[in-house]
Amino acid sequence: MLEQIEQYAKQCNIPIMQKEGIDFLTSFIKKNNIKTILEIGTAIGYSAIKMALVDEDIKIISIERDEVRYLEAVKNIEKFQLQNRIKLINADAFDVNLNEKFDLIFLDAAKAQNIKFFKKFEENLNNQKYIITDNLNFHGLVDNCEKKSKNLRRLTDKIRQYRQFLKENRNYNTDFYNIGDGISISKKVI
Ligand code: SAH
Ligand code: MG
Repeated sequence: MLEQIEQYAKQCNIPIMQKEGIDFLTSFIKKNNIKTILEIGTAIGYSAIKMALVDEDIKIISIERDEVRYLEAVKNIEKFQLQNRIKLINADAFDVNLNEKFDLIFLDAAKAQNIKFFKKFEENLNNQKYIITDNLNFHGLVDNCEKKSKNLRRLTDKIRQYRQFLKENRNYNTDFYNIGDGISISKKVI
């Protein structure tokens, strides 16, 4: 069933996590006994399903603004009978206010908005817990010095600014991993 989702993503050009990245993420969740997760950027539910399958006690809230993708995610999550553990919200994440606190916040939405997502949702993070961000290499384009279109340059500049923001943020210790499309793990110090 997971293969079907992977295939659909490929056909419809939906940027779900690649194998190496998702394996890294799910082992991290297991090793650190993470039980509550907020995901920004559901797409069609692939990473949410993978994360939920790590352990029966895991509960996830995931936000997706695109209605077509959200509806596909609803279907996929029902196929896995995970609707009791994965709650989907169809909205722009900037319009969503949550009171819950989470062990992990996974940022995998609009890559240019990561500083804003981080600042908005860090109040929903439990002490000593983690914010993980995907696509910090953006297909290798962030650190590649070839000439880029203006839009692409704007995006890769934003990603570089986000990395700098993480490095300078004294409230978190961040490690960067050259795995998948580039992943950071920021641990809240307090
Ligand atoms: N986490 C998924 C892939 C997410 S792709 C997986 O690995 O399976 C990124 C998704 O973020 C896209 O579907 C896009 O529509 C969504 N997105 C981008 N900006 C958003 C925002 N501000 N609020 C909610 N969703 C957003
Ligand atoms: Mg991603």
